Amino acid sequence: MKKIIIIGGGAGGLELATDLGDKLGKNNQAEITLIDKNSYHLWKPLLHEVATGLLDEQVDNIYYASQGLQHYFQFTQGTFTNIDRENKQIIVTDHKDQTISLAYDILVIAIGSTSNDFGTPGVKEHCIFLDDQNAAIHLRETLITKFTSFCSIIDEHESIDADKIRIAIVGGGATGVELASELPHMIEAFGACGRNKMCSDLLDVSVIEATDRILPALPAKTASSITQTLQKCGIHVLTKTMITKAESDGFYPKEGDVIKADIMIWTAGVKAPDYLKEIAGLESSRSNQLMVKPTLQTTRDDNIFVIGDCAYAMQDSGRASPPTAQAAHQMAKICYENIIRILNNQSLKSFKYIDSGTIISLHDTAQGVIKLLGKNEMGVKGFLALMIHRILYRIHQASLLGLFKAIRFAIASKFMYKTKSTSIFTNRD
Ligand SMILES: Cc1cc2nc3c(=O)[nH]c(=O)nc-3n(C[C@H](O)[C@H](O)[C@H](O)COP(=O)(O)OP(=O)(O)OC[C@H]3O[C@@H](n4cnc5c(N)ncnc54)[C@H](O)[C@@H]3O)c2cc1C
Repeated sequence: MKKIIIIGGGAGGLELATDLGDKLGKNNQAEITLIDKNSYHLWKPLLHEVATGLLDEQVDNIYYASQGLQHYFQFTQGTFTNIDRENKQIIVTDHKDQTISLAYDILVIAIGSTSNDFGTPGVKEHCIFLDDQNAAIHLRETLITKFTSFCSIIDEHESIDADKIRIAIVGGGATGVELASELPHMIEAFGACGRNKMCSDLLDVSVIEATDRILPALPAKTASSITQTLQKCGIHVLTKTMITKAESDGFYPKEGDVIKADIMIWTAGVKAPDYLKEIAGLESSRSNQLMVKPTLQTTRDDNIFVIGDCAYAMQDSGRASPPTAQAAHQMAKICYENIIRILNNQSLKSFKYIDSGTIISLHDTAQGVIKLLGKNEMGVKGFLALMIHRILYRIHQASLLGLFKAIRFAIASKFMYKTKSTSIFTNRD
């Protein structure tokens, strides 16, 4: 029986494991194994909501082992470190810290991306990155600890003359903007749990961007409108501000004074993990992504597919498909079809990225553009945009859990949103 291993149960990998399990694993046509360093999946575009307490990772997660049982794939928890292409084996450090080798006939690498500090001194030491669920939980704990100690200072001095809580986010892309937009609401929710002096006026949030505007993936008009929305919430948007180093007191721009910060967050770009750069003689891009052919097989080994953020898939436009959940989802679908085609000795399909638009969620509203059939662009704003943004997540859930279960999750989530932040923010004094 063919052995198919998928490494990384994220936006692309878990959809692929589920589809292949249902198609091949169920009838013992192939043995499907998913490897992930974590025990559960949480959709990465929701990480800023986990970090700000809006979403409880205990509610919206999917355990790989249980998903595997229901969809006929095996799950091994461990960290992938290398490939032995000659013997068709991958090397994994398992959760007991032991090195194991697993044999494959077809391998799919779907390990996503990490933050890119572009070698900026001090960033690794002083900044929080929003790379995975553990980082999001760490950021949430850091924010709550800061809010709690600030609250004690206010109570002690019976005044709110103390300095504000300064939070600086480098990177005016979707992650930085969505995270910034949630912070004023987070402190209000924290204040509503019995600390009524805590309010958004006490926050000093800056989004720092090197280029002349935030959100380069969106039209300038939409980005400007989102800038205004952020500014109305008291968030500073500092454009044309190139950060050259980070120190414990804040960010140092190329020109001008230090931007002082109590909490420093870096969301300025992504790269594939460094160890992919030279892995097993495969061809990689400048940002460590593995180069793939239109079929999503690596340029140097047809037995290895790469999907999602860690794949460099050149498009007819002369640019690679973007590192988004949208692209990871589309790649998972083509990779699924191509693996079935390999087993049936059929010719393989080419991956062509279809851009359906970009929507930025801004707490209780959203704004962006949608593209009909990947072409005609249409601006969307407000409730409609927020619904479309939410639907993207529900589509992902439906492809993992089935439509009815996804609807049940959506209904449960709707009611839980009202109580989640309360449980996260109480009993912290
Ligand atoms: C805050 C935020 C908001 C975003 N918003 C959007 C949005 O609105 N729309 C959109 O399209 N995209 C959005 N994105 C981007 C999107 O999340 C990613 O492009 C997408 O998740 C990539 O999917 P993937 O399958 O390649 O990797 P991931 O979803 O990152 O999954 C990678 C998986 O691999 C596992 N893994 C990593 N290394 C190893 C290893 N060595 N061994 C074993 N397992 C490993 C990880 O645990 C993880 O489960 C957002 C990202 C962030 C951070």
